[in-house]
Amino acid sequence: MVLKKFDIIYDKNIHKIKNKDEIVSQLEELIGNKKVSTEEVDILAYTKDTTLITLNWSIQGKIAGLPEIITYPETAEEISEILKLANKEKIPITPYAEGSGVVGGAIPIYGGIIIDMKKFNKILEINEKNLTVTVEAGINGMNLERHLNAKGYTTGHIPQSLYTSSVGGYIAHRAAGQFSTKYGKIEDMVLGMEVVLPQGEIINFKTIARASTGPQLDKVFIGGEGTLGIVTEATLKIWPYPEKRALISYSFPTLEDSLEATRKILRKQVYPAVIRIYDDKETKRHFGKAKNDVMVVFVCEGATKLVELEEAYTKSICEENNGYYEGEEPVEHWFETRFKVKETSMFPPYKIVADTIEVACMWDVAGELYQKVIDATSSVPGNLLISAHISHFYPNGVGYYFTFGGVPTGDKTEFDFYKECWDATVKAVEDLGGSFGHHHGVGVNRSHWMKREWGQAFETLKEVKKLLDPNNILNPGKIYEPTWEEQRGDD
Ligand SMILES: Cc1cc2nc3c(=O)[nH]c(=O)nc-3n(C[C@H](O)[C@H](O)[C@H](O)COP(=O)(O)OP(=O)(O)OC[C@H]3O[C@@H](n4cnc5c(N)ncnc54)[C@H](O)[C@@H]3O)c2cc1C
Repeated sequence: MVLKKFDIIYDKNIHKIKNKDEIVSQLEELIGNKKVSTEEVDILAYTKDTTLITLNWSIQGKIAGLPEIITYPETAEEISEILKLANKEKIPITPYAEGSGVVGGAIPIYGGIIIDMKKFNKILEINEKNLTVTVEAGINGMNLERHLNAKGYTTGHIPQSLYTSSVGGYIAHRAAGQFSTKYGKIEDMVLGMEVVLPQGEIINFKTIARASTGPQLDKVFIGGEGTLGIVTEATLKIWPYPEKRALISYSFPTLEDSLEATRKILRKQVYPAVIRIYDDKETKRHFGKAKNDVMVVFVCEGATKLVELEEAYTKSICEENNGYYEGEEPVEHWFETRFKVKETSMFPPYKIVADTIEVACMWDVAGELYQKVIDATSSVPGNLLISAHISHFYPNGVGYYFTFGGVPTGDKTEFDFYKECWDATVKAVEDLGGSFGHHHGVGVNRSHWMKREWGQAFETLKEVKKLLDPNNILNPGKIYEPTWEEQRGDD
C-alpha cells in the first residue's frame, strides 16, 4: 500500500514531523516499541472517523486526514510522556478511541501523532453500595454493559453506537443514549475522572455524589472533545437492571399532536426511559403501516409498580391527545432493529451523499423548527430526502435527529453539497434560538458555528483552551477553529 497515492481532504494545516525517525525512537523509549507504529496499514486506519461523507471519499480514493505515527499507550503516565514530547517538538496529537464519532472529531486534521485509547479497556471497580463503576476510559460501551448486566446492573447509557464506541468518546462528545429520558446523558452519569492535561499533568476529580467546592471544573472536560485533556479513567453511576419493562406505542394524526402528548407526559414528571417520535416519512420507512402518520414508541422501565403507574399516565395522556394505541409490536420491532444502520453505507456507491444531524430546541419552537429545517434543507439543489425523528425529551425541550440525502448538481462536488445541507439545517436551527448539536459534538463539521452559538462566551472558551494548551497540541482544528471556512477542505 502506498499512502502517498491518496488525496487528503484536510491537507492545509498538516504539520509534517521534521525529525520523524528520532521522534519514533524517543516514543519507543518512553512507552515501548510494541506501542508505536508507522506501518502504512495502521496509519490508514486513523485517517477518518465515521462521518458519513468519509465513505464517499474512500470510494474516490481520498482520505480525510493523515497522521504519521500511531501510539497505543496503556497508562496515564505514558500519555503524559507522549504529550510532554509533543509539546517540546510542537507535534499535533489526536486522541482516537473507537472512531465512531460523526463530526470529524477524531480526524487528524493537523497530522502528527495519534493516541489510540483502546488499551484503556479495564473495569477497575464496581461498588454495589455506592452504585458506581470505575473504568479505564477506552473501554467499549457494549463490553461494559455486558459485564454490568451479568451482575444485575446497567449504566443506562445505550447509544445506537454501543458496540463501536467507548466511555472516553461519550465523555468527549457529551453523548446521549437511547434510554436517556430516564437515566440522563453522560454528564449526569460521571461522578469522578482522571484526565491528562495537554502539557502532561495528570489531574483527578474525586468521586463524589455532589459537592459545593467552587466551580465544577470537571465539567469542562465533558464535551472537551479531546482538545483540553485526555480522559483516562471515569467513575459512572450504575442502576439495578430494571425489574419490568412496558412497551407502548401510539400513532398520531400530526407531529404537533405527538409533540403535545409527549410534552404533557414530561410535564407530569413521568420519565419513560425511551421516547421516540417519527415523522410521517420515517414512520413509513421504519414501521410500514400504522393507523396514523406519526408513530411514537415508549419504553417505561424500572420497579414494577412505578412502571405500571408510568404506563397508565403515558397511555391516558396519549389518548387525550388524539393518539391511537398501536400495541407492543412497533416497540419490539424498534428493539430488534435499534443498532442496525446498514442503510447509511448503501448510499455512497450510488454517489448519494447522506448524513444525520441532531439538534436541540425548547418546546415553544419545537413544531416550527421541524418545518423550518425541512423547508431549508429540501431547498438545497440536489436534495432528495430530509426527514426526522425526535429522540431526546426534557420537560423544557427536545432533541431532533434529521436525516438528509441527495446528489450534487452542476459543478458542485459531493463535499459542497454535504456542507450546504449541513449549513442549511444548522442555520434554520440557530435562527430559531436552537442549539446546533444535541449529542454528536462540534468536531470539524460545526466549528464555524461556534461563535454564533456561544456569543461572547466563545472568546472565554478560547482563552481556556490557550491556557491549558498554549502550543495548540491537543486535537487542533476542532471546536475553536472554523475549519470548513478557513481550510481548503474541498474535494
Ligand atoms: C451508527 C452510529 C450511531 C450513533 N449513535 C449515537 C447515539 O445514540 N448517541 C450519541 O451520543 N452518539 C452516537 N453516535 C456518535 C458516536 O458514537 C459518539 O460520538 C461517541 O461518543 C464517540 O465515541 P468513540 O469512542 O467512537 O470516540 P471517537 O470517535 O474515537 O472520538 C470522538 C472524539 O472524542 C475524542 N476522544 C476519544 N477518546 C477520548 C478520551 N479518552 N479523552 C478525551 N477525548 C477523547 C476524540 O479525539 C474525538 O474528538 C453514533 C455514531 C454512529 C456511527
